[in-house]
Amino acid sequence: MTFQIFPPLEIPQTLAAGPGPGNTDARVLKAFANAGVADHMQGDVLRGMVECKHMLRKIWGTQNAYTFAVAGTGWSALDTMFSAVMPGDKVVAFANGTFSGIDALTLRIKAATPEEHAANPMAPQAASVTVIEVPHGQPVTGDLVEATLAQHKPKWAFMAHWETGSGRINDLRGFSDACERHDVMGLIDAVSSLGVDDFSIDDFPGIAGWASCPQKGLCCLPLTYAPVSFTDAYIASLRTTGAYTYVHNPIFEARHWGIVDGQDVEKGTYHRTHSGYAVAAFHESLRLTLQESLAKRSASYRTHEKVLRDAVTEMGCEVTSDMPSLIVLNLPPDLAGREMELVQNCRARGFGIWPTLSEPVQVRIGILNQLNRDAVSRIVRLFAEAIRELGGTVNQDAIEDLLESRYGTSIAA
Ligand SMILES: *Cc1c(COP(=O)(O)O)cnc(C)c1O
Repeated sequence: MTFQIFPPLEIPQTLAAGPGPGNTDARVLKAFANAGVADHMQGDVLRGMVECKHMLRKIWGTQNAYTFAVAGTGWSALDTMFSAVMPGDKVVAFANGTFSGIDALTLRIKAATPEEHAANPMAPQAASVTVIEVPHGQPVTGDLVEATLAQHKPKWAFMAHWETGSGRINDLRGFSDACERHDVMGLIDAVSSLGVDDFSIDDFPGIAGWASCPQKGLCCLPLTYAPVSFTDAYIASLRTTGAYTYVHNPIFEARHWGIVDGQDVEKGTYHRTHSGYAVAAFHESLRLTLQESLAKRSASYRTHEKVLRDAVTEMGCEVTSDMPSLIVLNLPPDLAGREMELVQNCRARGFGIWPTLSEPVQVRIGILNQLNRDAVSRIVRLFAEAIRELGGTVNQDAIEDLLESRYGTSIAA
């Protein structure tokens, strides 16, 4: 067979209504497309990175000098955060769903000894890592963290802030307090909460490392920068142990963002190539977050999540999540077992909802950057259509009445 060049790739506009990525903001795309070509040491690119660093500290409510972002997605930030975990380090990880499960795997990979790697290269069983499995749909509670840290006395403890797999909020306050009490360095996967929830890193002194992503709460998919933040204690630990990475070592990486020896310097120095397009897009997403304000945005998520939750409940679904940017639900009893079919039908039409990625199979519908009447109403109507298509019954008048009563007067569109 002869090779033929493929036609140009065209990707359609879909409704990204899953756990993430969310709907990239038009302002972000414009900033991406309008940036000129410039190398990673050009003055405005470097200035943009320094400004991003300051905006991130403001959004995340922290004085941590080591607050910057890592090229890539959530796992890039998480890999950076976990880079200070060394073979043999004592770790406790709480896993209550798909993502914290992968985080726990990453921790086993980081803490495994060479012998443990050789024994099971793809899933090393590191003796120094204790993984506490919390069943799907249940939160990690402060009491559980307290009891486990008191028993194990690890160097590091890990938890996801919001477990996107099951749509569950974990107890950040309880986790931080327990870490402080037991002198443990807490590590948090904040991939799905940054830009959605209104919280400040510096209110949680038990937590030494934070990692997030660009494409969920920050509305910035054009593969840009995954935020991280580290306390001085984390950096001091890293300084004494080193890490088995150049690219994801926070001390090295921070230099390009103008952070050297815990101090801000005027201009970054070379760590790796950065994209002026990505810096411009990320910069705009942070400006957008600050202009809207996290207080307003997080209140808006709660309002719209409630409308979506009540609408699908009216359709006979059972919502089991408590995250404001995502609902996780069971279909009405007569459609139970047909979750995958429903999700596939929707996705085939460009309505991008998701199943859960680990058992049990549930449906996930997200509203990232869909915070207005039209967008949420469209999601509700498309979902009602999908239920009817499977033979379920939906009282459309009741749904329309619900939307009208919620949006008609009280909430601006
Ligand atoms: C989405 C998500 C991740 C993975 O992030 P990527 O951007 O896909 O690399 C990790 N943890 C949580 C909690 C997430 O929601």
